[in-house]
Amino acid sequence: DNFGIKEALQRLQIKDENLGTSTGNDWIDTNGEYITSSSPADGAVIAKVQVSSREAYEQTISKAEDAFKVWRKMPAPQRGEIVRQIGNALRERKEDLGKLVSYEMGKSYQEGLGEVQEMIDICDFAVGLSRQLYGLTMHSERPGHRMYEQWHALGIVGIISAFNFPVAVWSWNTMLAWVCGDVCVWKPSEKAPISALACQHIAASVFKANDLPEGISSLIIGDYKVGEYLSHDPRVPLVSATGSTRMGKLVGEAVGARLGRSLLELGGNNAIIITENADLDIAIRGALFGAVGTCGQRCTSTRRLIIHESVYDEVKNRLASAYTKLVIGNPLDEKNHVGPLIDKDAVEGYLGAIEKVKAEGGKEVVAGGVLEGEGYESGCYVKPCIYEAENHFQIVQHETFAPILYIMKYSQLEEAIQKHNGVPQGLSSAIMTTNMREAELFLSVAGSDCGIANVNIGTSGAEIGGAFGGEKETGGGRESGSDAWKAYMRRQTNTINYTTELPLAQGIKFDI
Ligand code: NAD
Repeated sequence: DNFGIKEALQRLQIKDENLGTSTGNDWIDTNGEYITSSSPADGAVIAKVQVSSREAYEQTISKAEDAFKVWRKMPAPQRGEIVRQIGNALRERKEDLGKLVSYEMGKSYQEGLGEVQEMIDICDFAVGLSRQLYGLTMHSERPGHRMYEQWHALGIVGIISAFNFPVAVWSWNTMLAWVCGDVCVWKPSEKAPISALACQHIAASVFKANDLPEGISSLIIGDYKVGEYLSHDPRVPLVSATGSTRMGKLVGEAVGARLGRSLLELGGNNAIIITENADLDIAIRGALFGAVGTCGQRCTSTRRLIIHESVYDEVKNRLASAYTKLVIGNPLDEKNHVGPLIDKDAVEGYLGAIEKVKAEGGKEVVAGGVLEGEGYESGCYVKPCIYEAENHFQIVQHETFAPILYIMKYSQLEEAIQKHNGVPQGLSSAIMTTNMREAELFLSVAGSDCGIANVNIGTSGAEIGGAFGGEKETGGGRESGSDAWKAYMRRQTNTINYTTELPLAQGIKFDI
């Protein structure tokens, strides 16, 4: 029965055929085409979901506009209370939703549970934040004046998400946006829409139980064409988009053309520098999970290892030997380490990248290949592989969303940092060293140019408490912790005169 997935789907209110456009508890029937979502784990159909039409989108936006007028006036701590209840509803459904994420996306059940835990954590964070949306006060240069700033809700936040974190990315955005007073319209990846339906049911039940209007949490379904409704729509002041750099450039351009705001979370090309002072046990474990975890389909997956020449052979051999112990198979079966790629297109991309690195002169350390036979019928299971490569190779400069690790040598740390930064992307990075000077140089302004820089932990994965995102072609956006909430609000500076005079700023005289 595939680890109880059928029962989990039932409890999550997923039917064989589902409507896809929702403003909360209301679902709009478009009589339109359907997307079929199949599991990369076994190739079986999970469910079908209807694609949103332009008319359904218009109805959704109109409901969202109405809801915003109500929601923005509710005190932020009361909005936090709703988010607290959503966190509790997620706790109740953690196993079911984690299982669905694992089955639909292909990540291990443990990682599916971890993704739902991340949603719960961001709910908790947002509840606290709902009492901490602080503005500053300033001293006015004019006598008898007071100056301060306040943060107001923006309006409708459009969320476009990628397949690899099919539920967490939505929660990073919505939970903050909701306590900030915004309403949200979510277009999930067309490769993992069923997990999104499940989230919508969970959130909608809480809004209903609290007698809140339709339109605070909306869902639209489809591919890039439906995503474009959001990016081109001036009624959507912020579009938060997670996915490939190619997508981010298109969304950023469309939103920029109407001078809207975009928050872009795009591809990475993450490296670990392993110095001669590294604790190699930690370095190898960190590199291994970073490179093969989630079958190399995390934006923070480790793609490159830049290894000091004195430890190069040891790291290479120990990693190669660890790769032989990896067990690849059904992600719901907890004895497996590595699940499938998302679909057969991703398998083609993986095979193409292996051809390219070989053609550019890369040397095979651990061979790749597609797995066949019992348990691998979906055609999406591949072998994690390692190549010795040069940083300037075209394929190394490019993010391949698959478990391919490129390794290279260095002799001076400055050279390693140059290689490290010598790619178009700038998401996550790490140095493995027990030497304080090396660590601090890596974290300094002359070190890693990424949004995330770690010491003695790998590149992969992050906690919700910090701001998450990256530089350069990773898009510059920040989500989740720290003060990332500011992206979801508009800042207003207020000056109040409590005197009978009207002095101008900068001492300007204008007397008649
Ligand atoms: P993708 O770019 O193919 O799709 C992402 C989303 O964008 C989907 O919902 C898709 O329908 C939509 N989309 C595509 N083109 C669009 C357009 N022109 N207008 C509007 N919407 C459009 O990405 P994917 O394959 O689902 O995900 C993998 C990518 O996501 C990788 O590059 C990965 O690094 C990146 N990613 C980044 C982060 C991060 O936080 N930086 C997190 C997760 C994934």
